[in-house]
Amino acid sequence: MEACLGDWSDPQLVASGFRMAVSVVLSLIKELRRTLGRENVLSAHSELVVYECDGYTIEKNRPDAVVFPQSTEQVATVVRIANEHNVPVVARGAGTSLAGGCLPLGGGVVVMLTRMRRILQVDLRNRLAVVEAGVLNLQLARALAGTGYHFAPDPSSQGACTIGGNVATNAGGPHTLKYGVTVNHVLGLEVVLGDGSVLALGPVHNPAGLDLLGVLVGSEGTLAIVTKIWVRLTPNPQDYRTLRVIFDTLDSASNAVSDIIGEGIIPAAMELMDRGIIGALEEAYQFGFPLDAEAILVIELDGPSAGLDRQKEQVVEICRRQGAREVLQAATAQERQMLWKCRKAAAGALGRLSSSYCTQDGVVPRTRLPHILRRIVEIGRAHRVRVVNVAHAGDGNVHPVLLFDERDKEEVHRVLAAGRALLEECIACGGSVTAEHGIGVEKIELMTSLFAEPDLEAMRHVRSAMNPGGRLGPGKVLPSP
Ligand SMILES: Cc1cc2nc3c(=O)[nH]c(=O)nc-3n(C[C@H](O)[C@H](O)[C@H](O)COP(=O)(O)OP(=O)(O)OC[C@H]3O[C@@H](n4cnc5c(N)ncnc54)[C@H](O)[C@@H]3O)c2cc1C
Repeated sequence: MEACLGDWSDPQLVASGFRMAVSVVLSLIKELRRTLGRENVLSAHSELVVYECDGYTIEKNRPDAVVFPQSTEQVATVVRIANEHNVPVVARGAGTSLAGGCLPLGGGVVVMLTRMRRILQVDLRNRLAVVEAGVLNLQLARALAGTGYHFAPDPSSQGACTIGGNVATNAGGPHTLKYGVTVNHVLGLEVVLGDGSVLALGPVHNPAGLDLLGVLVGSEGTLAIVTKIWVRLTPNPQDYRTLRVIFDTLDSASNAVSDIIGEGIIPAAMELMDRGIIGALEEAYQFGFPLDAEAILVIELDGPSAGLDRQKEQVVEICRRQGAREVLQAATAQERQMLWKCRKAAAGALGRLSSSYCTQDGVVPRTRLPHILRRIVEIGRAHRVRVVNVAHAGDGNVHPVLLFDERDKEEVHRVLAAGRALLEECIACGGSVTAEHGIGVEKIELMTSLFAEPDLEAMRHVRSAMNPGGRLGPGKVLPSP
């Protein structure tokens, strides 16, 4: 078998633009078609370009083939075929990654999980559901409507992203503040390892032994391909109070966030949108936001009805103390839904501002929010890049959105430099370069600023154990020694 030489766990090889010999690619495609059926394998150039990037559009590379398996066994077979040809394999759900996690560096096979989209079981008595990796987050939310339970992780991309993608990135979302990230809601996994073997792990299978589930959640497709997930179901809260609070400065909005937590209140969510985002939302959807507001907080309290109003009054009082100009409460379930629609539609409105955007995902200790939001403005100015902000403010998780035109290479250069400066500032604040979007290819270089070499080496050992040869998700997460 003709195959490329080299170890796919070496990001330098992967990033070198290396491509497989034509004979290897032809043999690969032939074998994939023979096993999965012609209709489940894409290999024409015009079809492959769709998969050359994900939500992070700055880096692109074409895969050699895209496959659509429909079972764990088929995923395992694809991994084995890729191993025989020594080509990389990249798992892909909905492709909403904002860090280039689905970028097929080095070409190879993209494994689309989107045809594995069955909800296999909803077991309310045991408060769990079993889903295939390609089930959409919103699909599960809809299936659970009326049961009194929900799957708590609700990324703003909920309408598109898959639960497999949520597991792979350990996704968060607006309600992470109270309910935690995806790892807190996964009870078991079925995965295909780098050698093609299938493993079932997690407390639902066996509570003893090493916590491999904890290792796999958030590993961004670099340790295994997730095919099936046992998710925890959370009882719906009895009641909600959802507020829209308008501020004249970003400082007062972010200080209000720290004060609320400081007073011992844990809202379900505290989301921030700045003036730039408010303007884009108004232009796109006319929600009726005041265009002169510097910041809006969407604050949601939930829990037993008794006591919620008292908590709400405390929150309103704190916001007023910090100079809130206006506080509105959603009076009906429809108004509450509308407020969340406004927040979750923010990304969709960005097209009003620029043709391309890059969303950063830094996290800082909550009390440093005023500082980081000020620095974001300064860094944007210094690099002549327009930046607007949404934030899961309660978590100290900022999402500066850098606006640019992809065709202007010099501007792209400035955007990358500004993005790096922003994340370095988060590290300097005692924070990190990702709260929820993952490292992908985008932030791989910053891993050496976060971890000492022995820490990275320990992670490389874990990767080699689960993904020998490094063919799963090469060039992601872990930098070269
Ligand atoms: C508008 C917008 C809003 C967003 N809001 C949030 C938010 O609030 N919170 C948040 O956490 N993220 C958010 N994201 C980022 C993204 O939606 C999440 O990371 C999501 O979990 C990715 O799911 P996906 O199905 O699109 O995965 P993909 O983008 O397809 O893949 C993401 C990564 O996971 C790997 N992967 C995917 N499926 C599997 C699998 N089955 N097995 C192994 N590896 C796999 C891929 O290789 C890649 O590294 C947002 C993105 C957008 C575009």
